[in-house]
Amino acid sequence: MRILAALLLLPALNNFAGGQRLPASVVPSHYKLFIDPNIETQSFSGEETIDVQLGRASKEIVLNSLDLEVSSAEVIAGGKARPAQLSYDAPNEMIRLVVADALPPGPAALHLKFSGKLTAGLRGLYLSKTARRTYAVTQFEGTYARMMFPAFDEPGFKATFDLTVVADKQDTAISNGHIIRDAPAADPTRHALTFSTSPRMSTYLVALAVGDWQCLERKVDAVPIRVCAVPESKDKAQFALDVATHSMQFYNQWYGIKYPFGKLDMLAIPDYEWGGMENTASIFYRDTALLLDEATASVFSRRSHATVIAHEIAHQWFGDLVTAAWWDDIWLNEGFATWMQAKPIEAWHPEWHLEDDVAATTQQIIGLDSLSATRAIHGDPKTPAEIKEMFDGITYEKGGAVLSMLESYVGPEVFRKGVNAYLRAHANGNATSADFWQAETQVSGKPVDQLMPTFVLQPGVPMLTVSSSCNGDKAQAAFTQQRFFLSPERLNAGSPEQWQIPVCMKLEGNEACSLVTAKKQEASLGQCPAWLFANRNAKGYYRVDYTQAELNAVARVAESQLNAPERIALIEDTWATTRVGKNSVVDFLGLAQALRSERDLAAINLLAADLEYLSASLVPEKESAHFNEFVRKQFEANERDLGWTARSGDSDEQKAVRASLLGILGRSGDPEAVATARALVQSYIKDPASVEGTLVAPAFATAAAQGDAGLYEQISAALPKARSTGEYNTYLFALAQFSQANLAERTLALVDAGKVRQQQYPLLFSVLLANTHTQDAAWAYLKEHWSDLAEKVTSFGGRGAVSTLGNFCSDERRTDVAQFFQQHPAPGAQRTVNQSLERIDNCIEFKKIQQQNMDSWMQK
Ligand SMILES: [Zn+2]
Repeated sequence: MRILAALLLLPALNNFAGGQRLPASVVPSHYKLFIDPNIETQSFSGEETIDVQLGRASKEIVLNSLDLEVSSAEVIAGGKARPAQLSYDAPNEMIRLVVADALPPGPAALHLKFSGKLTAGLRGLYLSKTARRTYAVTQFEGTYARMMFPAFDEPGFKATFDLTVVADKQDTAISNGHIIRDAPAADPTRHALTFSTSPRMSTYLVALAVGDWQCLERKVDAVPIRVCAVPESKDKAQFALDVATHSMQFYNQWYGIKYPFGKLDMLAIPDYEWGGMENTASIFYRDTALLLDEATASVFSRRSHATVIAHEIAHQWFGDLVTAAWWDDIWLNEGFATWMQAKPIEAWHPEWHLEDDVAATTQQIIGLDSLSATRAIHGDPKTPAEIKEMFDGITYEKGGAVLSMLESYVGPEVFRKGVNAYLRAHANGNATSADFWQAETQVSGKPVDQLMPTFVLQPGVPMLTVSSSCNGDKAQAAFTQQRFFLSPERLNAGSPEQWQIPVCMKLEGNEACSLVTAKKQEASLGQCPAWLFANRNAKGYYRVDYTQAELNAVARVAESQLNAPERIALIEDTWATTRVGKNSVVDFLGLAQALRSERDLAAINLLAADLEYLSASLVPEKESAHFNEFVRKQFEANERDLGWTARSGDSDEQKAVRASLLGILGRSGDPEAVATARALVQSYIKDPASVEGTLVAPAFATAAAQGDAGLYEQISAALPKARSTGEYNTYLFALAQFSQANLAERTLALVDAGKVRQQQYPLLFSVLLANTHTQDAAWAYLKEHWSDLAEKVTSFGGRGAVSTLGNFCSDERRTDVAQFFQQHPAPGAQRTVNQSLERIDNCIEFKKIQQQNMDSWMQK
């Protein structure tokens, strides 16, 4: 699965879900499944026969079922059908079938009839709506297949599926297989569609979508690929088909195993919780993550669509063909797909420099992993809610970053061979972390099985303190490692973790790599270098703490000697050590000045984000004009080179940098940026196609932030007339970015009025809470409507609303947030609450450490 914007998520107060695993003694091999959904009555009925193997004699069979009414159950064994007594174990989401006499060990079949409700809850078999009609679609990962049919709903119980679904005559259906039979149903207005037998797969990968879908189709390496959507959006499917084509060709080569599932469908669904879900041979996406209009789409959307699509297709091998045996190892699916998603797109569009985005994402997750309320990549989830909480930044981004470090350590070709060996050994089955690193250990001959557990089983990020010394013309480096915390107090208190860290130093004209395994270790550097950088290509998952002299030396050569990922790591290492008081904030501003000629998009964005944090926390309102002047100086030369007007020959990178600068300079109140943004907004409202797509979001953000009630009215009036989802979202999120509290209240009223899709709640509240002018109104609204909103805004474990509360920076606010969540549960987001509280603490500490340094710098 993939969410859209990378970040946090997390755990739960489970008052509803039990933690029982199914017994291992009954193993399913095949499901014959019949589903009859009735969209009009919002209900469905079904019937299934499950072939199982009993490991021992038993009178009882247990399987998962949630919110289903089972009307009949029998067990067929030894050629004899026996009625089964049924009991529900609702807290554990299970049912028990009990027969009068013990069933013999060996094959048996379960035959059940059942029914359930179609809800709008974005899970199980649910309803998804457009303005025109309603669809029935599925989302099963992690534990929601049991909402459509009683099942052995654990990833280790792989089976094949024969599915038949009944649909209205004018509707079709999409599933894991292809349609092999289309027969009349009992009701003459409906037909029964039967799909080919699915591959052997886990229940969470079963998929079904019923509606009037229309598709574009193409064959790639003999595999038919379709991109499907509601009819009115079919013309926006071309780009996704191109991405799929390149990804399929790339993966067929890279994995060294041809795409294993015969066909690939990709479907855009109007209401979908995730960005995408890798159902076997039938990937489902949120419509706005799959479809786009190439004429008007921004560079950012094209890049994010491409990576989400490549991510889901990567899973067809890593996740679907070989599946993690249990949810504790879900990083093996998600970390891997996150690491992999950039590869085909880098090969297809090298000018997008996705390697820089990857480096920036790594730095962001290191930021989260610097909190004490982080967790280890490998988890121990027991309940459905805990399983859902595993889908967080640690699983995805840290998992991906650690694999990237491993690839760099063993070498790309060796790494690829290890993956190939692992996939071949476990194809159509399940595997664990240990299986993976054993495969890599074998092909590389390096201690991968020693190194990886230190990063996967322990929480946190190591900080490597580096100091070099020269003796004659021979240089030595001394490393010490300790866990890094963003809290100076915790950092100074020390912590017992110890890692095995592959470290590569980049030196003037040289490189030096070693495996740092001890708390203190030395390495030879050859000749005395004029400068050193301790994370070559930014592949290492660690913070670096340089001495003052080393930092000054590497800052001087950063633009000429370091590549973009390395500069990104240098910026964030320096920012982190500034946050904990190892440097003065003045040193950080000095590094920023040394990077005034920076032209890399990801580096510019990180630097700007750090300067904005610094401004929000350390610069008093009356000094903000002065500090904004510094921000403008930082970026204005870059802006002058590019100009505000889109040019026909601009590269995607230039378009993206211009758009980022419009946002950054707009937020700092630069008059030209603001005027440009206003003009673009007026032009867009008249004709959306008249504005280069990449500039649209920052133009609206800037114009709204500096806008008045008149502009608010104008955008409000445009909202209901929007001709596409993209245009609607542009207006909706613009309304959330005005700086007046009363306008924020009007935007919040749109939630009450049903003008905001539930899938947008986390982002909408996040935007309102991130703005210092509207956060009070948004927080008050959230508290007041919590019982109604809790499930909806925490649907990604609090990503969005709850995590944005971490932007507060005062004792008063901290107390308020802490007290509120003591009395109100945050379903699936308790860890995020703790992380947000810790981030507020960190901000308060940051002020204590650096306020004086900042004040004296401001006076100069
Ligand atoms: Zn995924």
